[in-house]
Amino acid sequence: QPRLVVILADQLSNDIASLRAADPQRDLVVLAEVDDEARYVPHHPQKIALLFSAMRHFAEQLEQQGWRVHYHQYQPQGPARSLLDVLHALHAQHDFAQVLITQCGEYRLQHLIEQHWPAALGIEVQCLQDDRFVTTPEQFAQWAKGRKQLRMEYFYRNVRRQTGLLMEDDEPVSGQWNLDANNRKAYKGEVPIPPQLQFERDDIDREVLALVEQHFADHAGELTAFHWATTRDDALQALQHFIEHRLPWFGDYQDAMVRGESFMFHSLISPYLNCGLLQPMEVCLAAERAWQQGKAPLNAVEGFIRQIIGWREYVRGIYWLTMPDYARLNRLENTRPLPAFYWHGDTKMQCMKQCFASTFQYAYAHHIQRLMVTGNFALLAGIEPQQICDWYLAVYADAYDWVELPNTLGMVMHADGGYLGSKPYAASGNYINKMSDYCSHCHYSVKTATDEGSCPFNSLYWHFMQRHRQQFSRNPRMTMVYRSFDRMQPQKQDNIIARAEHLLDNIEAL
Ligand code: FAD
Ligand code: SF4
Repeated sequence: QPRLVVILADQLSNDIASLRAADPQRDLVVLAEVDDEARYVPHHPQKIALLFSAMRHFAEQLEQQGWRVHYHQYQPQGPARSLLDVLHALHAQHDFAQVLITQCGEYRLQHLIEQHWPAALGIEVQCLQDDRFVTTPEQFAQWAKGRKQLRMEYFYRNVRRQTGLLMEDDEPVSGQWNLDANNRKAYKGEVPIPPQLQFERDDIDREVLALVEQHFADHAGELTAFHWATTRDDALQALQHFIEHRLPWFGDYQDAMVRGESFMFHSLISPYLNCGLLQPMEVCLAAERAWQQGKAPLNAVEGFIRQIIGWREYVRGIYWLTMPDYARLNRLENTRPLPAFYWHGDTKMQCMKQCFASTFQYAYAHHIQRLMVTGNFALLAGIEPQQICDWYLAVYADAYDWVELPNTLGMVMHADGGYLGSKPYAASGNYINKMSDYCSHCHYSVKTATDEGSCPFNSLYWHFMQRHRQQFSRNPRMTMVYRSFDRMQPQKQDNIIARAEHLLDNIEAL
């Protein structure tokens, strides 16, 4: 009796566990474009187009390899709203023995699969571990056991030892685990920013783009500048392009921001890693090779590899260790609604405007834009965590719950009480001014915190610190901050707080 082999939109890898366990002669592979998944948050049209097109290309490739494939194309008016509806209809026709699936990357759907599907379909659902990561959730749980606070740096060192990446026997090459002290430079045009790689579009891409334009025009984000690879071959080309043209300067300018430059020296490979077109180890090995061949310096290569085997694995570990409770945390008790400019991008704050422009045009913003601009603003303004999490989940091509949630709720919003990071990444306009050219083109003045026209980040920063004095003043990494505030004249302190309150009362007008 045949089995139904379900491949989800982020499982587009030839060696995914469910395909390895399946029989091409006997089993039926199912891929489905359904409303429930495409609309549970208003995903950026480019994210939907990327996934639908990559799924269609992947299904075509499976057929060429001899698999029997059922592909359910998007039917907005059709009866099948969910994946389960599609499976139901197939099972009614063919009577399958079992559903075979690889663990999905999202607690919401995984819970449905485990708790609801077997009874709803009346057959066994076998769920296999997703082994496309460098570490397993069990390994992470073992490492985290008994630790009150988790530190990415220590986890990362273990993964370096486990993988042997940039290692000499049991020691890191060069003797240092982390070379960030050499990174984080502002960009002054020293090296030209390489042009982006363009991909040729085929009929599948064109059909999908037309479909998304027709049915998802109500979602924030533009489709015209669609720039993503939709096949593994093109994703490999994107990786190669990064290794040759951007990796050598990745470390130096990792945190730099420049007006009109959305990509800088970043890799843009997160959507491919997250949907299965690329695998983390092949990416890291390619970077390591570039260093071995003298084509990229160690600070760049170590920094890049750390993002993938360090941060990426670490946030996934936290997700599976703490869900579903993690999603509900709000330790700073924030309640402010997300300002509308997060959805339309129209604001006088130049830094936010630049990040929104990149977000809507390309379904992309690099890490520092997400963390230190749009994220920092949400933290300082006290936005309700669920609302800002839903925003990040919707607007980026690489966004999936397992990676977006710990980054937003934990790293940006500190809503987990410091489980993921020891202190909040709160910063005044000074930081943005140091790392970008945004402030010199802004309506607001980064030099002041109290005047009419002063940079909102400046007064909101102090307002945040005062609001949460009880939580943070005993944190040894933050005592200096409180000391600086306490040294100010009381009148100045009052003026700063009054300016921040005025801004918060008029937040939509910023
Ligand atoms: P590069 O800068 O070239 O980095 C290389 C790779 O490292 C990335 O492709 C990514 O796979 C990995 N990486 C880097 N930082 C992180 C991180 N903090 N967590 C996990 N992986 C990381 N990343 C996502 O993949 N999906 C998300 O939904 C997501 N949401 C985020 C939300 C917020 C609020 C923040 C602050 C960060 C988020 N990130 C997310 C992490 C990071 O911003 C993106 O991975 C990165 O910007 C992707 O662009 P890139 O491929 O050019 O990355
Ligand atoms: Fe952003 Fe403030 Fe700089 Fe304007 S002055 S770009 S609001 S940090």
